[in-house]
Amino acid sequence: MVIDRINFLKDAINRANYEYYVEDNPTISDFEYDKMFAELKQLESENPLFISPDSPTQRVGSVSEKFFPYKHKYRLYSLDNTYEYEDLEDWYKKIVKEYGPQELVCELKIDGLAMALTYEKGIFVRGVTRGDGITGEDITNNLKTVKAIPLKLFEPVDIEVRGEVYMPKESFEKLNEENLKNGEKLFANPRNAAAGSIRQLDSKITAKRDLSMFCYTAILTGNVENPPKNHYDSLMYLKKLGFKVNPNIRLCKNAKEAVEYCKEWDEKRFSLDYATDGVVIKVNSFAVQQELGFTSRAPKWATAFKFPPEEVTTKLIGIEESVGKTGAITPVAILEPVQLGGSTVSRASLHNFDEVGRLDVRIGDRVYIKKAAEIIPKVVKVIDDEEHYKLPEYQPPVKCPSCGSELHIHEEEVNLYCDNPDCPAKRCAKIEYWVSKDAMDIDKIGPSIIEQLYNKGFAKTPVDLYKLSMQDFMQLDLVKEKSAFNMYNSIQESKHRPLSRFLTAFTIRNVGKETAGVLAQEFSTLENIQSASVEELSKVEGVGEIIAQDIYDFFRKPETVQMLEELKSLGVEPALPVQNISDKLKGKTFVLTGTLQSMTRDEASEKIKLLGGKTSSSVSKNTSYVIAGESAGSKLDKAQKLGVIILTENDFLSMIG
Ligand SMILES: [Zn+2]
Repeated sequence: MVIDRINFLKDAINRANYEYYVEDNPTISDFEYDKMFAELKQLESENPLFISPDSPTQRVGSVSEKFFPYKHKYRLYSLDNTYEYEDLEDWYKKIVKEYGPQELVCELKIDGLAMALTYEKGIFVRGVTRGDGITGEDITNNLKTVKAIPLKLFEPVDIEVRGEVYMPKESFEKLNEENLKNGEKLFANPRNAAAGSIRQLDSKITAKRDLSMFCYTAILTGNVENPPKNHYDSLMYLKKLGFKVNPNIRLCKNAKEAVEYCKEWDEKRFSLDYATDGVVIKVNSFAVQQELGFTSRAPKWATAFKFPPEEVTTKLIGIEESVGKTGAITPVAILEPVQLGGSTVSRASLHNFDEVGRLDVRIGDRVYIKKAAEIIPKVVKVIDDEEHYKLPEYQPPVKCPSCGSELHIHEEEVNLYCDNPDCPAKRCAKIEYWVSKDAMDIDKIGPSIIEQLYNKGFAKTPVDLYKLSMQDFMQLDLVKEKSAFNMYNSIQESKHRPLSRFLTAFTIRNVGKETAGVLAQEFSTLENIQSASVEELSKVEGVGEIIAQDIYDFFRKPETVQMLEELKSLGVEPALPVQNISDKLKGKTFVLTGTLQSMTRDEASEKIKLLGGKTSSSVSKNTSYVIAGESAGSKLDKAQKLGVIILTENDFLSMIG
């Protein structure tokens, strides 16, 4: 019967959505998914009577004239909040005095938009914004496009669920990049982007935005057997029904453990892919919750701890002009030390001198600084009060702070450059880059050692490192025999790194780690690259004519030729390429994206190469397969657009056997 097939497909697709968007653990390939989706759509168009509201085809969206107000059946309260741990402890003490020690549930407070979702017999029937807590707006059609929201629950219950719709940070960045390209307005933060996306009258636009939702409150409106008796169990129950519940919830025994949770996440929050501005702490027991009740605006059994802001002000006490390996001079803000996002900050990025001019940063200014995940803090704004205008305007340097040479602006670039090949700062930066993790990975040699080696005349170039003896290291300040041995040794160990690392370390113009990897893969040996023509080089993926010319020119410079000869005479040569163990994947190009479970991406590309295949960093029509791990991003989108076959990790594992 056609209805059986429709039901089968509906369930299978809803299950796949759940695995992908709620559990982050897809078990079928996008190809299978698309095939089932197409079949369901076909069957429904032939049998329109069988289209039901829980069908995944109903997620595509429609256009509304306006949103209608909807009065909430159960009021959405706000939460009292505090920035002080002490307030949290006081709140707990008051409860303990009356009801004895209580378990507390800690949850990250997601910086998104609160929603109330209604399900009847397990089917999603209505989604309403928080509004003022009493009346919101019915945006059911828009919420249907959010794939983390189940259209049909695993149990046919009547329930109202609350949660927070949010936009992952990565999707927010991507959306802003696109808007910038199209000359559209930029969103200030992920929360604004989520708000702008969820209240679109055309829900097809909402569908295109990558929104998700964490759920945190369950109100059972019908009868169920063994309803949850405390908040923690109700969260587990929501999970069981198919909702996405934040994985970082914790059941704490007392306020002390809750404070620890807050401290822990104040530090770790920047590593998350969504914005969180604090922690919600709730009394676990429903019985005690009921006893405690509400004030006029907030429950007495819950409170929120707010993280200190990610943006703070401090005084800019100087601008350091730092010389990079290419000779580019970059300004770095030196700050009066200030606490920001759990650490003390005394330096911040100013990008380049154009940015300094744009911000009108002057030494002595009070400035706003901001921290983002794993990125050094940056100066975002100057407080332009009266004091600011009394300060002298900052003048970019005209001479190199290291060697005093006159600085130049290179064509079509904003940076100032020191073009003196013997500039000490530039030479040290080159050696620093040579030993860095992405290049030759000589981990025992740090910036201060390099400076000493340079100043004592022991190492003026990276090549000189390989001429050093243990005795040379012993002559440096504060270096004892053991560390001298370690330094010497870590240099010796780097003599036969893979070709890709050599190519990175050479600092060829426009050739970074990625391109170096592709070149090494394509040409196998240094000799092959050296003798390659511009035409041959430009055929390599990601290497256009300009980069090809840069590479070609680099290998013909007399100083390059001399460097390579010297390295060779010192026994420093790339390791021979690993021999393929089979040709199973010959002629196939793979692109890896997202996080894999059973191996790292580097390990996966190693496997592909051993089987004769190739990997690339970008998706094009020449890509044979995209292997998509967890939280795969724009590469996956591009693969879908180009119709490239997408493999899950399991698909890939069974392909390579
Ligand atoms: Zn210089």
